[in-house]
Amino acid sequence: MKHPLIKILFISGIVISQAFFSFGQNPQEKDIIQKAQEEAYNKTRTVTEGKNADYIPYLAKVPSDLFGIVIVTSSGKIYKIGNTDFEFGIESISKAFVLALAMQTVNPDTIRINIGVNATGMPFNSVIAIELEGKSPVSPIVNAGAMATNSLIKGSTKEEQFGKILKYFSKLANRPLRVINELYQSEAATNMHNRAIAMLLASYGHMWADPIDACDSYTKQCSVGITAEDLAMMGSSLANGGIHPITKERLLSEESVPKVLAVMGMEGLYEKTGEWMYTVGLPAKSGVGGGILAIVPGKMAIAVFSPPLDGAGNSVKAQKAIAFIAQKLGFNIYKP
Ligand code: GLN
Repeated sequence: MKHPLIKILFISGIVISQAFFSFGQNPQEKDIIQKAQEEAYNKTRTVTEGKNADYIPYLAKVPSDLFGIVIVTSSGKIYKIGNTDFEFGIESISKAFVLALAMQTVNPDTIRINIGVNATGMPFNSVIAIELEGKSPVSPIVNAGAMATNSLIKGSTKEEQFGKILKYFSKLANRPLRVINELYQSEAATNMHNRAIAMLLASYGHMWADPIDACDSYTKQCSVGITAEDLAMMGSSLANGGIHPITKERLLSEESVPKVLAVMGMEGLYEKTGEWMYTVGLPAKSGVGGGILAIVPGKMAIAVFSPPLDGAGNSVKAQKAIAFIAQKLGFNIYKP
């Protein structure tokens, strides 16, 4: 390889073959993803840390040993392992998708100005965060901001308003979803703290509907039942620039995808988001039902379900499994 031209051809050959074997349409992709998923499952399944949420009585009764991992790539391929068909409460993961829905009618800058897009560094139901941040909800994906965002979705009746949210979630999941009624009843009977937050926000002029109606619609959006497969499918549009990889329907505008992901990257795991981004480096959203959705932009959505949570309300096993997969596949949005 003495001649410089031969050297250039040789090097560019390596680059092309590497690009071919990077994530896209290649025969090795399946094996690499499946192996990482299996390893993550086997290494994490014996973890015993964490505890089911119990401030919502229904959640305390969900079997703690359920564990499933689903990956949906931005080209629509599905990889699953474990309990991927069990229907659990979407809970706070719904906040990211209601934000996406609000952005279909409300300019992202209106969200920034009226709700806020900063990190709170505090628990998801913090009242202090509202007070400290100039009497504003701070972020669309904490309880306060999520109820304010919900109030931006309009309908001539309460049913029509929530119907829009459920229809949107169903399009993202590519199957008709439903509210788990027992979960909704359990949550509605115990959500006084959220009702108080909604009233507080209304007193500060940050609610765009009746605050109790917004809180109720928010409680319903949190009670939507999803499987780990639904969750990864819902995330796949976020991973694919807003277009659903299977139905090919545009479900988020090109402009709103990076905004939703930025908010997830700042607040998705609440007061533990900094540590999460520092160690894993993927925008993610957790829910107290035990689900976590992580997005690798342009590549895939990773959804994990396992009910036991850490002190901030994030599934312990899900964090470990996603961290393992991301590390194994070399995914981190801060890496070239
Ligand atoms: N519905 C739950 C609540 O309002 C959602 C919390 C969460 O998943 N972090 O408390």
